[in-house]
Amino acid sequence: MAKEHNDEMPDWSAYRGVLIVVEQRAGAAKKVSWQLLGEGRKLAAKLEVPLMALVLGEHVAHLAEEAVQYGADRVYLCEAPELRDYRTRPYSRVCLKLIEEAKPEIVLFGATATGRDLAGAIATHLPTGLTADTTQLDVEPPPSRLLLASRPAFSEKMMATILCKQYRPQMATARAGVFQALPKDMAREGEIIRMDCPMREEEIAAQVLDFLRETGKLNLEEAEIIVAGGRGLGGPDAFGLLAELADALGGVVGASRAAVDAGWITHEHQVGQTGATVRPKLYIAVGISGAVQHTVGMSGADVVVAINRDANAPIFQFAHYGIVGDLFKLVPALTQAIKERRQ
Ligand code: FAD
Repeated sequence: MAKEHNDEMPDWSAYRGVLIVVEQRAGAAKKVSWQLLGEGRKLAAKLEVPLMALVLGEHVAHLAEEAVQYGADRVYLCEAPELRDYRTRPYSRVCLKLIEEAKPEIVLFGATATGRDLAGAIATHLPTGLTADTTQLDVEPPPSRLLLASRPAFSEKMMATILCKQYRPQMATARAGVFQALPKDMAREGEIIRMDCPMREEEIAAQVLDFLRETGKLNLEEAEIIVAGGRGLGGPDAFGLLAELADALGGVVGASRAAVDAGWITHEHQVGQTGATVRPKLYIAVGISGAVQHTVGMSGADVVVAINRDANAPIFQFAHYGIVGDLFKLVPALTQAIKERRQ
């Protein structure tokens, strides 16, 4: 439905503060929530407002404390049996209640399956806009206080910056792995405010009966160790070598777009501009040259190891450790050495 437009900026002075909606499953937070608190701190500092977080679920009080340790000044905590598993209606009702009462000027969610569903449901209830899948966030200083929400557009060929001038709050979902969490500060103190759940079980149509685990489902964004392969692998079979190395290290397999486009591995493994943005502790790039569209998705890794037979490959500029040589010799030798150390 089209929203009415007015050329004059309405008075939104009642809306102040940045709110991060923390996503959790079974009491464990998604990393993107802490990454958004890290980014939210910068936005809140520029606007000179508090950084707020909303934690909702059942038995999740520990996450409210963690949210403070990751940078929140004030955490709203809503614990109820109705919130044990994610369901759109009760979760969106809690968010809507908080937005109405706390009036944040900016609300951010992770661009995960849950975050996208929740943010979309909220945006249909509020007279405001939602920018999906942002990869850069900034604010214009007061008096405009506008959120500058940027995301790739036109088949990822350019960046679009989207503003929401006429309505509040300004809302966005943000890609996992792009923003950096602050180091956890156990001594940090903040306010924790409990909220009641506005829905009872009998008012909720959807029931969660069971969870069926999808076996083999890859979660690159949350992985701590990634062994990624590129065109240098020469075909799909060599991904077996990478899988063995990843298994030995307790990691998962990633890929460059060249390998995905060649049909050697599926797109869910792709790292980079049109794939996943990752922040693992260790990223091993095997037979990957280091094109900017690839490195933009992995340069946030704590440690990068590159294996390439070309000593001038650009990937070595990003690598903390570089090994020049043939991957078909090096990868099995590395796997063997790791297995021997583990025994
Ligand atoms: P290459 O550049 O061909 O590099 C292969 C490397 O393997 C070389 O450095 C070579 O020296 C090495 N090699 C070969 N044989 C061996 C061996 N036996 N042992 C050791 N090393 C060996 N790319 C992405 O990865 N992710 C993206 O999300 C992405 N998005 C894009 C979006 C757009 C709009 C565009 C235009 C491009 C995008 N690309 C993306 C493509 C990107 O520009 C590169 O083409 C791609 O990353 C190259 O993949 P590669 O490094 O595997 O292949």
